[in-house]
Amino acid sequence: MTAKTMEELVSLCKRRGFIFQSNDIYGGVKGLYDYGPMGVELKNNLKQSWWKSMIYERDDIEGLDATILTSPDVLKYSGHEDTFSDPLVDCKSCKARWRTDQLEDTSCPSCKSKDLTEPRPFNLMFKTAIGPVDDGSSFAYLRPETAQQIFTNFKNILTSTNQTIPFGIAQIGKSFRNEITPRNFIFRVREFEQMELEFFVDPGKDESWHKYWIDSRYNWWINQGIDKKNLELLVVEKSELSHYSKSTVDIMYKYPHGKEELEGIANRTDFDLGSHTKNQEEFNIKAKVMKNDKSTTKLAVLNLENKTWTIPFVIEPSAGVDRGVLAILNESYKEEKVDENNSRVLLTLKPHLSPIKAAVIPLKKNNEEIVSAAKNIKKILQKLGLGRVALENSGNIAKSYRRHDEIGTPICITVDFETLEDKTVTVRDRDTMQQKRLGPEDLINYYKDCFN
Ligand code: ATP
Repeated sequence: MTAKTMEELVSLCKRRGFIFQSNDIYGGVKGLYDYGPMGVELKNNLKQSWWKSMIYERDDIEGLDATILTSPDVLKYSGHEDTFSDPLVDCKSCKARWRTDQLEDTSCPSCKSKDLTEPRPFNLMFKTAIGPVDDGSSFAYLRPETAQQIFTNFKNILTSTNQTIPFGIAQIGKSFRNEITPRNFIFRVREFEQMELEFFVDPGKDESWHKYWIDSRYNWWINQGIDKKNLELLVVEKSELSHYSKSTVDIMYKYPHGKEELEGIANRTDFDLGSHTKNQEEFNIKAKVMKNDKSTTKLAVLNLENKTWTIPFVIEPSAGVDRGVLAILNESYKEEKVDENNSRVLLTLKPHLSPIKAAVIPLKKNNEEIVSAAKNIKKILQKLGLGRVALENSGNIAKSYRRHDEIGTPICITVDFETLEDKTVTVRDRDTMQQKRLGPEDLINYYKDCFN
């Protein structure tokens, strides 16, 4: 089961501290959201899971954390200055602004007027001044994707590690796009995070690697708890492809507002390294690239067999963290009847994604012995390093269960008078609501097993 509407998710996110409208107390800013105490944990867990699968579980990918502020040169030669734009239309009647593809039968979706301006390109990049004088002579862009600084660091990483192609560079971080009409909660926002891999391969082996990464990324999303029936692989039509792409497959997810892109996996040929390399004429670059006289570095590898320098092809799986969080929240949202008169909302999150791994609940809020035993259990479980363990001292067990069901805590541990005598506790499972009594050693094993 998933949420029925986006409103259900928005409401749960606010109520339980996952996501808030940013700058809220001053009226909010469109397309910006803040992650609260539960949201930051969920988001970090998702990023950590991606990082583990990319870097720790393999030996052919290296990590990077490059700057957000990006030189205009980088985004000139990447093509972003010229082409990273959406067609913008103004409604002359109500002054609303739309992307051309959002119009309804050539009329304004808001006031239905047909009195619109001609579409004009609107560049989505944010600019900011560098240095104390804001006279336009020295500025940087806030990166619109994390990928470009991966390409500019290609040589640094190649020479500082033992990698040879095929190998990849992975990065997670903020990206910024001045979207014309941000909407659908955290689906389309102006400040968001991406998890991007640029995987460098021999030209000629690009198609099989592209297929490999499509399968691998699809399966990764399933391992995060997304049901196959809500995913679809969409082969982007030739006429819709970005200018640099030989082929792109989008992983589409069935969001409450419709089926839309969660991640794109593109075969970017030699466009990126070919655009940023110096001495372009020395290489047989296949993509159409802008002439580059400014780059100081050759972005090529030596083929040891035929002793020629080649510019590798790039396969890029690029996923949005926020779109991932939204898909996972939607996927795990459940409302079910508990008995005749009561129902509950719960998030059936995979334990590795749960913001809180276990809640330790003293039966009596003001009983020092019980509270101190609970604190001790929290400390022991916290030390295992599997994520946040919370002491939940509200004094109301039923309320605590409800709260932890709604934030997706896999287990609740209740400490009571019996605990003081024999050290046993009651452990309640989020999904089945079944309870059992466990001693200290069994509790630790049960807790650890939750994450295997
Ligand atoms: P769309 O067509 O939906 O605007 P895109 O094709 O421009 O997306 P890419 O440039 O391929 O997106 O970016 C890679 C990923 O970054 C997307 O699959 C998406 O998950 C995420 N992403 C892109 N733009 C946004 C945004 N404005 N808000 C949130 N996530 C985004």
